[in-house]
Amino acid sequence: ISQTTKEAREHALQLEEKSAQLHIANKEATESNRLKSQFLANISHEVRTPLNAILGYTKLLQKDQLNLHQLTYVDTIAQSTNNLLATIGDILDFSKIEAGKLVLEPSDFNLQEMIDEVFHTLSSTLLNDDKAIDLIPSYSADVPAWVKGDAIRVRQILTNLVGNAIKFTQNGSVQVVVNLTSKTEHAIEISLQVIDTGLGIPSSKLNQLFKPFSQVDPSRSRNFSGTGLGLVITKKLIEQMNGTIQVSSEEGRGSNFYFSLTFKPSDKAEAPLPALHK
Ligand code: ADP
Repeated sequence: ISQTTKEAREHALQLEEKSAQLHIANKEATESNRLKSQFLANISHEVRTPLNAILGYTKLLQKDQLNLHQLTYVDTIAQSTNNLLATIGDILDFSKIEAGKLVLEPSDFNLQEMIDEVFHTLSSTLLNDDKAIDLIPSYSADVPAWVKGDAIRVRQILTNLVGNAIKFTQNGSVQVVVNLTSKTEHAIEISLQVIDTGLGIPSSKLNQLFKPFSQVDPSRSRNFSGTGLGLVITKKLIEQMNGTIQVSSEEGRGSNFYFSLTFKPSDKAEAPLPALHK
């Protein structure tokens, strides 16, 4: 018996030692993660400041009397600077989310107006003459116009998904379909779909989409700038709003990103909806 007790004691000691080692390793991992996030935050700040200076002076140049060549160069500088700023923003958001430091800031906003605004902004930046895309918002009549949520983050989710839909569609339509799932005194659950008629995504790549730095194929990413972080951030933001996101897609026919978001009811008076846009 005493031999067994001795063995058991030794075993317990070994376990204790292992658990202590694990605890130290965990602590070190948490600390190195914290340092990584801190480093990314510092770098982002350091890079953003000069980029904003470049952008500011570029905008001044755009107002000058430039010839057509010069104007093209300056426009390209402005566009590239904007792309870099967006990339830095993505990296910063990603590190904030990883560090669990992204905090939602709820306020009252009009979801329908936001969708219109996102369409408007993206169509002026992403639509060009060789694309023929109808942008179609469609809300079911029971969706409240006003909700309470983090408007900036909801706009970011919509901009990422609708932006991708427009980027990867040559002709046809990009539709945002909004439905009410449930409504109680404390919570409004809304389901949204962003449906495009574009390139689609091969089924073998679907499960990688929400993983960091994934791009469906390298030739696509060469044509369309991006960090491969957009959908990762989008998914995390949706989850932080107690929602989920899924995708179905068919190559050559288009994709459907469907997701849900939970809001609080807005204090703003509920005006009846105007006639639907389309
Ligand atoms: P990025 O920020 O680089 O656009 P995302 O995470 O938003 O990265 O998207 C990752 C990749 O998923 C894109 O590079 C693209 O290949 C593919 N993708 C995303 N949305 C669509 C879509 N609507 N249609 C086709 N491919 C898409």
